[in-house]
Amino acid sequence: RDPDVKKPEWLRQKAPQGQRFQEVKESLSSLKLNTVCEEAQCPNIGECWNGGGDGIATATIMLLGDTCTRGCRFCAVKTSRNPAPPDPMEPENTAKAIASWGVDYIVLTSVDRDDIPDGGSGHFARTVKAMKKQKPDIMVECLTSDFRGDLRAVETLVHSGLDVFAHNIETVKRLQRIVRDPRAGYEQSLEVLKHAKLSKKGLITKSSIMLGLGESDDDLKEAMADLRSIDVDILTLGQYLQLVIFLQPTPLHLTVKEYVTPEKFDFWKAYGESIGFRYVASGPLVRSSYRAGELFVKTMVR
Ligand code: SF4
Ligand code: SF4
Repeated sequence: RDPDVKKPEWLRQKAPQGQRFQEVKESLSSLKLNTVCEEAQCPNIGECWNGGGDGIATATIMLLGDTCTRGCRFCAVKTSRNPAPPDPMEPENTAKAIASWGVDYIVLTSVDRDDIPDGGSGHFARTVKAMKKQKPDIMVECLTSDFRGDLRAVETLVHSGLDVFAHNIETVKRLQRIVRDPRAGYEQSLEVLKHAKLSKKGLITKSSIMLGLGESDDDLKEAMADLRSIDVDILTLGQYLQLVIFLQPTPLHLTVKEYVTPEKFDFWKAYGESIGFRYVASGPLVRSSYRAGELFVKTMVR
C-alpha cells in the first residue's frame, strides 16, 4: 500500500455472525470444498453466508486448481505456465458436496487456464450440469476468465444451464494495461460479455470494477456506459485492497491510489442504476460475488 494513503475506518472487518452463517459453516466442515470465502478471508462472509433479509445464502467455490497461467498485478494467486491438469472428477464431486451443503446460490469461479484448449469452459459446464442435476433449485453464477476471446467456449458455458454469466472488466479502459495481465484486455472482455448476452435470450450478465486504482470519474462513467451498451445487467463496484484472492501482496503488486468514501460508492450505485443497470452493488468491501444470490433475485423482480 502507498504509505501516504492510510486505510480508513470503514474498511474494518466485522466478525461474522448469524444463525444461518453458523449452520452453513458447520455443514461445510465435513465436506471437501474449498471456498474462496474462507481461503481469501473475505470480509463479507457473515453477510453472504447468512443470506441477508431474503435468506439466500451465497458462497464462492474455486474450480480448476489454485495456480493461474496469468499474472495480473492486482492479484496474488500462484502462477505457472503448466499448472496441474484439472481433476476430471471435480465437477461430479463438487456437485455432490454442494447438494448436501446448506447454500442457495453458488458462484463458481477459477483461475485462468490458458493451458487448456477450451480454457476450462467444458469443465465449468459439466460442473453446472452436475449441480443442477443433484439439486435442481440451486442457483449458479459462473465468474469466468475471458477464455482468450474464444467465443465457442463462451457459448458452451452459456448453454450449461447457469443462471448468471459474470466476467469482470476489473478496471477502466485507461488502466487495463497497468492492472491486468497483457493477455487480458478491455475490448476482449466486452466481446465476451456481449457474446454471452447474445447467445441466450434473457441471460443475466454481470461485471465488476475495482475502484481506487487511479481512475477518474470520467473513466468510470465511460466504462459503465460501455457495459450498458452491451446490455450488462448487474454491476459491482468495490475498493481495490490488494487482497483479491489468496492475499500476500508482493512489491510487484499495485498500490492503492485512493480510498473511495462510502458516500461516493452510494453515488455510483445511484448513477449506475440511472443509466440502466438492473442492479448495482457498490461499497468499499463489495466483491464480485458479494451477496450475489440476493442481487440475482432482486434483479429478476425488477
Ligand atoms: Fe464469499 Fe464472495 Fe461473499 Fe466473499 S463476497 S463471502 S468470496 S460469496
Ligand atoms: Fe489469474 Fe484471475 Fe488472478 Fe489474473 S485475476 S492472476 S487471471 S486468477
